[in-house]
Amino acid sequence: MLRRLFQFLIVTALAVAAAVWLADRPGSVTLHWQGWRIDTSVPVLVAALLVVLGLAAALLRLARGVLGLPHRLVRARRDRRQRDGYRALSDGLAAVAAGNRQAARKLARRADRLLADPALTGLLTAQAAELHGDPAEVERRMQALLHRPETAFLGLKGLMTLALRRDDRAAALDYARRAWASETGGADGLAIPLFELQARAGQWAEAELTLAEARKRGALDGAELAHRRALVLRERAAAAERDGNTAEAARLALAAHRADPAFVLAAVAAARLLHRLGKPRKAAAVIEAVWRGAPHPALLDAWTALAPAETPLMRVKRLERLVRANPEAADGHRALGAAALDAKLWGLARTHLETALRLYPAAATYALRARLEREERQDEAAAAGWSAKAAGAPADPVWSCAACGSQAEVWSTACPSCGGIDTLAWKAPGLPVPVAAA
Ligand SMILES: [Zn+2]
Repeated sequence: MLRRLFQFLIVTALAVAAAVWLADRPGSVTLHWQGWRIDTSVPVLVAALLVVLGLAAALLRLARGVLGLPHRLVRARRDRRQRDGYRALSDGLAAVAAGNRQAARKLARRADRLLADPALTGLLTAQAAELHGDPAEVERRMQALLHRPETAFLGLKGLMTLALRRDDRAAALDYARRAWASETGGADGLAIPLFELQARAGQWAEAELTLAEARKRGALDGAELAHRRALVLRERAAAAERDGNTAEAARLALAAHRADPAFVLAAVAAARLLHRLGKPRKAAAVIEAVWRGAPHPALLDAWTALAPAETPLMRVKRLERLVRANPEAADGHRALGAAALDAKLWGLARTHLETALRLYPAAATYALRARLEREERQDEAAAAGWSAKAAGAPADPVWSCAACGSQAEVWSTACPSCGGIDTLAWKAPGLPVPVAAA
């Protein structure tokens, strides 16, 4: 405000000064033109010239205004459509978040019509279609998202989810691979789904590359990465074994065991292959090391397999070493108790079967306890007492799929029922269901 006042004062002062300067210097001007003659003074001529210039400028502005009017009207209309379109887009996303199906669909259509850019409104229209349970429409809208680099990742991820939902793993793998290759920030979350799709397709080499890339990007943390690497190496070991290359298979199985020392089945494979290569001591060291932290019965079987021709007494001696390595493992005490029964070492058998029952009262251990009464003292009544306890005791844990709930006899990378990768877990099946009285 103050600046404008100053401007006005300065312009006025200059104009007054110019007028005074002209008035102080009088003179006359005579114009001859086409038989016309004008006599006037210099100040009047200057004033007349200024008036003419002012009029011309005003006319020019008016003409420009009139000529530009249609263009301005069009632009104003476009701006209004765009503003309304963005408002519908924003309100529509809010309606989707609130789960308001009707409003979401209405606003999606409105935004679509006003903005006329399917790549821009694709997310909203896809989500609105999703709320309405229209997979074909969702798919079409997700495809539209692929046309803009900014939304392409979202489209690929959505298309992958749709493909998985209709169990089209080949298509899901293709979308997952493309989304992962886009290297956008959100792609990190795709490391595991992509790995699992590749693993399910048996593409172990590609799966290994995915893990290497995930490591480079920091997409997976150390333990997740190590265990999946161990899965890949164990699969590669199995492939090498099938090809008859035992040395390579043993090398890969050992690498799997080192990548994840808690991965029992990698250790079991490594021990078996080392034994076959004539390295039983190294095989025993692998089993013993894993047994300390993860005393799984598969390790007991692998341990027994290292000396298939041993006498019961030799087996007792070797199993004592495992029990000393992990005295808290019920399965170790039970195996030692059973070996002691075979060797007719009754006292030793009783001690370890009792310890096993204290640690985990499994039906199979009660059955061994009954066998002890029968074989040591031929006491059928006592044996029957232990057998009765076995009937009410929990069975041993089993491999159980976390995804589909089915049980498996042996562990495999993919669940035999649903194909889930690394879903089999060693779980107690729970107490037997009491048989209802007929
Ligand atoms: Zn399953």
